[in-house]
Amino acid sequence: MKVIVLGAGIIGVTSAYQLAKSGHEVTVVDRQPGPALETSFANAGEVSFGYCSPWAAPGIPMKAMKWLFMQHAPLILRPKVDTAMLSWLAKMLSNCTSKRYAINKSRMLRLADYSRVSLAALRAETGIAYDERMRGTLQLFRTQQQLDASGKDVKALAADGIPYEVLDRDGCIRVEPALKHVRDKIVGGLLTPKDETGDCFKFANGLAKKAEGFGVRFSWGTEINGLDIESGRVRGVVTNREKLRADAVVVALGSYSPLLLKRYDLKLPVYPVKGYSLTIPITDALRAPESTVMDETYKIAITRLGDRIRVGGMAEISGYTNDLGQARRRALEHSVMDLFPGGDVSKATFWSGLRPMTPDGTPVIGPTKIAGLFLNAGHGTLGWTMSSGSARVIADLVTGRRPDIDATDLAIARYA
Ligand SMILES: Cc1cc2nc3c(=O)[nH]c(=O)nc-3n(C[C@H](O)[C@H](O)[C@H](O)COP(=O)(O)OP(=O)(O)OC[C@H]3O[C@@H](n4cnc5c(N)ncnc54)[C@H](O)[C@@H]3O)c2cc1C
Repeated sequence: MKVIVLGAGIIGVTSAYQLAKSGHEVTVVDRQPGPALETSFANAGEVSFGYCSPWAAPGIPMKAMKWLFMQHAPLILRPKVDTAMLSWLAKMLSNCTSKRYAINKSRMLRLADYSRVSLAALRAETGIAYDERMRGTLQLFRTQQQLDASGKDVKALAADGIPYEVLDRDGCIRVEPALKHVRDKIVGGLLTPKDETGDCFKFANGLAKKAEGFGVRFSWGTEINGLDIESGRVRGVVTNREKLRADAVVVALGSYSPLLLKRYDLKLPVYPVKGYSLTIPITDALRAPESTVMDETYKIAITRLGDRIRVGGMAEISGYTNDLGQARRRALEHSVMDLFPGGDVSKATFWSGLRPMTPDGTPVIGPTKIAGLFLNAGHGTLGWTMSSGSARVIADLVTGRRPDIDATDLAIARYA
């Protein structure tokens, strides 16, 4: 079959690779000059199979109110007269019940666990190097109150069968030796040892090269203007350069997916939630993290990527804008310099990206009411983590095979 993948972020590239491996003739279309240059470019680098839960959770509306007014706020809301934003926020709130949380979390965990196996397989078959490490995520608590409150996370991890360790101050220092310099600032932590880290951009670029080896064609610098649909079936894609014919089309446009789909009466509840990162060259490795440390106070992830520290976080609901606010940079600098001052922040690269968020945290993977049109989008906070499994699921569905995991509740039909 001729398959066109729209978007060459981590989701589009992994999808294209698996589709080509399944024997299809694949073309990937993207407006950028290369892979992973938008949201997949400089994310926090956590491959967090264990610590995988929706943001919409019981108690979040109250916590969100507090976060909005904090110094170095992890949440920023810029309300606008924007029906997409308001409707998305309302849907997000309606998912903050215990019942919805349990359903959404189990879907995310299913996909994350499948992604763990799929990423390991990809690593073995491609040999791509991406500053990967397999040393877990340490959620770091600065107050006793935070440590006590982690009891419910511990229960959830135990219930889901995910390995974890509750650590005291010395335990945290054993896992992250640089913390010995700031031992008075921490009280304990929660380690999920099976989590991994790695550079999403490097991985996507390595995999795109391998995909080319399987015959995948990449059309760079190409703007997607619309779909060609005849009698309820997708026939191709209209770009600023040419009209491409296809038997199947996979939409992997991240936050931009709903903008294309709404023209065809497909309402995909994905909204951009902006985050920021700093990438800092390491000058003193003894004061740098070994893996990912989640600073619970500021909700910021600090990750070791080779000879760099990547600090990422914040959730800004302000629409489609990539402006770089200096207050956000100061918040990231504050968190990292307070715990791991082993890098030169004057040489850091500051970046923002738009997380393609669904209100229930789970991506949308599967067919649509238009024959031949498939979605692999809305991976929100954990797109890098969930990419490898999502790609296998979509390749199976396009090919007409039954996926290894249940995917019926991942499709857009769940919002009907
Ligand atoms: C600050 C931050 C930290 C994060 N940390 C983590 C983390 O630690 N772990 C994790 O798992 N995830 C993390 N994420 C989330 C993760 O980065 C995203 O979920 C993931 O990158 C989404 O990938 P994507 O391929 O769907 O979207 P994108 O990477 O945005 O790809 C979409 C592609 O579509 C193209 N496109 C869009 N519209 C058009 C058009 N009209 N024509 C042509 N091309 C078009 C774009 O050029 C782009 O290449 C983080 C995100 C942010 C912002």
